[in-house]
Amino acid sequence: MRINCSCPKCTNKPSYINVEINEGFFSGKTISCPEGHEFFFISASPRSQFLIQQGVESFLKGFYFESFHTLYSAYEAYKKEFVAAHSYNEIKDLEIVKTMLTKLDRSERLEGAYVTSFISLSNGKVPIGLSRSEVELRNDVVHKGIIPDKASCEKIGNAIFKFIGGGNLLIAKRCMEEIDRFPINQVYEADYVNNKLIQKGFDTIINSPEDLYNKEYISYSIALNILSSMTFLKEDDITNHMFTDQVNKGHFIIS
Ligand SMILES: [Zn+2]
Repeated sequence: MRINCSCPKCTNKPSYINVEINEGFFSGKTISCPEGHEFFFISASPRSQFLIQQGVESFLKGFYFESFHTLYSAYEAYKKEFVAAHSYNEIKDLEIVKTMLTKLDRSERLEGAYVTSFISLSNGKVPIGLSRSEVELRNDVVHKGIIPDKASCEKIGNAIFKFIGGGNLLIAKRCMEEIDRFPINQVYEADYVNNKLIQKGFDTIINSPEDLYNKEYISYSIALNILSSMTFLKEDDITNHMFTDQVNKGHFIIS
């Protein structure tokens, strides 16, 4: 998986850096543009969004096994990000959130934490999870090596899109109701990345417009699809065909 990002220092003629989406993409790594400008790069957009996009693009290519697995990974990654955003909103301590996340390495623990976070943030609503048949489908593909066809992949895709959409809608609603000033997932992502940059010794305060072009780092954020943390969802956006709608747009961005 790769994505193009523009070089902030190539101001005379635009140049692009083709960045590989690997673990360093999220934890931070050094990249350079064709003109030799070097940067410390870190994604300010969460992992789940890239996995979702990979699921969409694999589906478009007809790679249903890969699409299914990637969408399921996105579902797990999203729950972790949601729980992290909720905890950070409560305690405002990145180190404690990090320690907490290490305890959620098993999927049933993560499921429990997600339900608890959702109930707490929604003031009592229980999230709608995957149905029994969707869970059985997942078990067949993940544990028994069953190769999903197009219809099975679309079924899990639509279920996962609706699930993640429900989480993002809750976060958006809290802003509409003025419970939170900014979406809590965006606050967590921004503070997480800012903290990483400060740890690396960068001055992240922008004092003048020139500072924007002279930075030695790239904090990269992008809205890849409807489930981006930067997309403000409305009630009508949540349907049983969100994945189908997304693949019908046919956009390739990261491959
Ligand atoms: Zn450059």
